[in-house]
Amino acid sequence: MDNKVKNQIRSIVGKEHCSDRKEDLFLYSYDAMNRRYLPDMVAHPSSAQEISRLINLANEQLFAIVPRGAGTGLTGGSLAVDGGLIITTSRMNRILEIDPENQTAWVEAGVFNGDLQSAAAGYGLFFPPDPASMDFSTLGGNAAENAGGARAVKYGVTRDYVMALEVVMPTGEIVHTGSAAIKSVTGYDLTRLIVGSEGTLGVITRLLLKLIPIPEAVGTMLAAFPEISTAAKAVASIMSSRVTPSTLEFMDRTAVECVKEYLHDDIPSDVAALLLVEVDGSPSVVEADAKVLENKCLEAGALYVQSARDSEEREALWTARRALSPAIMKIRPLKINEDVAVPRMKIPDLITGIEELARKHRLSIVNFGHAGDGNVHVNLLLDPEDKEEVSRADHCVKELFQLVISLGGTLSGEHGIGIAKAPYLDIELESSATDVMRKIKQALDPKNILNPHKTFDYDKTSLERELSPDNG
Ligand SMILES: Cc1cc2nc3c(=O)[nH]c(=O)nc-3n(C[C@H](O)[C@H](O)[C@H](O)COP(=O)(O)OP(=O)(O)OC[C@H]3O[C@@H](n4cnc5c(N)ncnc54)[C@H](O)[C@@H]3O)c2cc1C
Repeated sequence: MDNKVKNQIRSIVGKEHCSDRKEDLFLYSYDAMNRRYLPDMVAHPSSAQEISRLINLANEQLFAIVPRGAGTGLTGGSLAVDGGLIITTSRMNRILEIDPENQTAWVEAGVFNGDLQSAAAGYGLFFPPDPASMDFSTLGGNAAENAGGARAVKYGVTRDYVMALEVVMPTGEIVHTGSAAIKSVTGYDLTRLIVGSEGTLGVITRLLLKLIPIPEAVGTMLAAFPEISTAAKAVASIMSSRVTPSTLEFMDRTAVECVKEYLHDDIPSDVAALLLVEVDGSPSVVEADAKVLENKCLEAGALYVQSARDSEEREALWTARRALSPAIMKIRPLKINEDVAVPRMKIPDLITGIEELARKHRLSIVNFGHAGDGNVHVNLLLDPEDKEEVSRADHCVKELFQLVISLGGTLSGEHGIGIAKAPYLDIELESSATDVMRKIKQALDPKNILNPHKTFDYDKTSLERELSPDNG
């Protein structure tokens, strides 16, 4: 990118709101995945109009634009793999309106999920999508990744709560999608096309989100199992019962060890897996439903089921659960984190298959995740200096994906494809499906300006430009 273009960017957003200094660019060269790519410039626009002008300039001068929220993505989606301009939504962080009667909120894309939760709680409402990163990820990023969380088992994922969007298209037009009406079938569903498109089809600038009333009561239980397979059986039994839990989270023994400092009581050494189970609703329903699920766990072979005695104990359990992903990093410096999902009745087969893969490839694998919706985080723990182990892990990941697809599952339940899973896309998608995606991208972004080299636009050559201590 030459200086003339950089000056045009400065004149659009103001020179105090952009930078091409290497120390600044470095901060935007990574996300929560283990790779680094340096952009040519980073800009912090304040409106859809400014973003539109930046995108028009990119189409004239042919440089890439990469949208970025808080950079907590786990698949490299916000990385400028081939240079170009990163645009952040950090200055577009206002909650514009909470409408308690219609139970909706208009927000700018850079608002943190957790900030919306706090504001909505003042009206007795909440926004159900609750990624573990909710306190430090943006709603624009959540929509772009179609993020999910522990509550997805009962309440669904981000897609289910986005009613309308303001989006800047890859050709610069500002488009309004969707409707404030609960029902709307006018035209193609552009909102659903943009949600989950990982920043490749448009830059989301504003969102109209659905909120729902906070349940009157919540019951939280921790069930301990002597084997992972019995915990998996309990998941299958719970999910085929008449009670839908609001949360059904799974942790294996190593995962529990990683966060035991947050847990009130010691976990006995014969415990191989834990389920964190929650039910919500009116107090009488919660009491009855909790009993049903407790029995399901005991029938499946739980050693014990313990209820959180108060809100402090419940909060401790949640703190432990949310701390899991970063805590696991402490065991080994390199972690490959897959977030595969299978039809939930296949969870026992998935867990057995993962145990076999770990043995076959001599790898340490930690499993935890949203068992209730079949979404298991499979963490391969590695030593980056051990090249032979890293190579075994690559084979293991490929076989994991093959296993998941053979069980009727999917490569990613919530983290998206980005660059991390792009090389494996054809294990899941038929070429006719990727062709349709390519045609949509081509129609909306003829010059391939917006977030190139992601998902099906995988380009090995660009990815090889990764920063290393030698070239950084
Ligand atoms: C500790 C930890 C826990 C996590 N837990 C969960 C979890 O439970 N569930 C889950 O789903 N994810 C989880 N994640 C992953 C991540 O937090 C989510 O994907 C989140 O939605 C990303 O939001 P962000 O603002 O950080 O987006 P970024 O990482 O900045 O960007 C993610 C993608 O969205 C695009 N994007 C960002 N903003 C926009 C916009 N305004 N318009 C268009 N495209 C945009 C980017 O180009 C990129 O492709 C976790 C991550 C961490 C580090």
